[in-house]
Amino acid sequence: MSTSDLVDVSNADSIIEGSDAEQLGRVDVPKTAQPLRVYWLYLIPLVILHLMALLAFVPWFFSWSGLVVAILGHFVFGMLGITVGYHRLLTHRGFTCPKWLEHTFALFGICNLQDSPARWVAIHRMHHQHSDHQPDPHTPMASLLWSHMGWVLYHNRDHDSLTSFERYARDLLKDPFYLKLERRGLWVKIFWLHAAIITGLGGLFGLATVGPSGAIQMAASWLVWGVFVRTIVVLHGTWSVNSIGHVFGYKNYKTRDDSRNNWFVALISHGEGWHNNHHAQPRAAHHGHRWFEFDMSWWVIRVLETVGLAKDVVRAKKLPMIHD
Ligand SMILES: [Zn+2]
Ligand SMILES: [Zn+2]
Repeated sequence: MSTSDLVDVSNADSIIEGSDAEQLGRVDVPKTAQPLRVYWLYLIPLVILHLMALLAFVPWFFSWSGLVVAILGHFVFGMLGITVGYHRLLTHRGFTCPKWLEHTFALFGICNLQDSPARWVAIHRMHHQHSDHQPDPHTPMASLLWSHMGWVLYHNRDHDSLTSFERYARDLLKDPFYLKLERRGLWVKIFWLHAAIITGLGGLFGLATVGPSGAIQMAASWLVWGVFVRTIVVLHGTWSVNSIGHVFGYKNYKTRDDSRNNWFVALISHGEGWHNNHHAQPRAAHHGHRWFEFDMSWWVIRVLETVGLAKDVVRAKKLPMIHD
């Protein structure tokens, strides 16, 4: 199967009558992740990140400006970086935009420590191709915890093999920008650089507002809230799409997987929780298909389209719904 097929896994092709989730049965963790081997390279930073985020419970690390930076960061890095950038643009090519903007979104995505663009895209395309069947990298048919974060913490040979990158992310790696990000862990360095910049800006803000005595406290609060807390919240939001979004919620479409629409997940992930809609029409940049399915990321794409920055926007087709 070519990469273009994987990007174009859209519309009715993925709607297979009579293959509803109830018939899926149990699916084990992917064979390429067995025997289970802890992936220290991912486990250690994620544990550190969670521990650092817990500093939010220490009042000294709190500031209102730090909280504002966290909320803004959730929109800028979480939404523009992950849902609009990594997911709808790079993985599914739901729209096109100028290269400078595409690369900016990719850099925003990196600031959530959710993998390099190429690895994220490859794993997600793998998920769409095999959703809730072997070798789906993160199906809750293995276990809910596995689908949420277990799959990140155990090494899956498929996720780092050249063959997988070639097969699932060839289009990205043709661009030297994405290739460079893979080399010597450059993307991880960019994450820590953005953390240092936010901390530095916090220090400057503290200097300007409270004076030298408050600068260190302000810098620390921006680091804890604006980087650690926000990164953890965005991470769990994305992971919830893979876990909760395949277990709890309702369906609009019959798909060959167990994807669901879940308002809570949609709320914390800027519209990604309308996951059954997304599995039914993966290329569509519009995930909320009913009037009450609010999809924040879609409105951002609409604005980009209105000002001429987004083109070839793939809209959802009118397909028969289960309720019709
Ligand atoms: Zn899914
Ligand atoms: Zn997707």
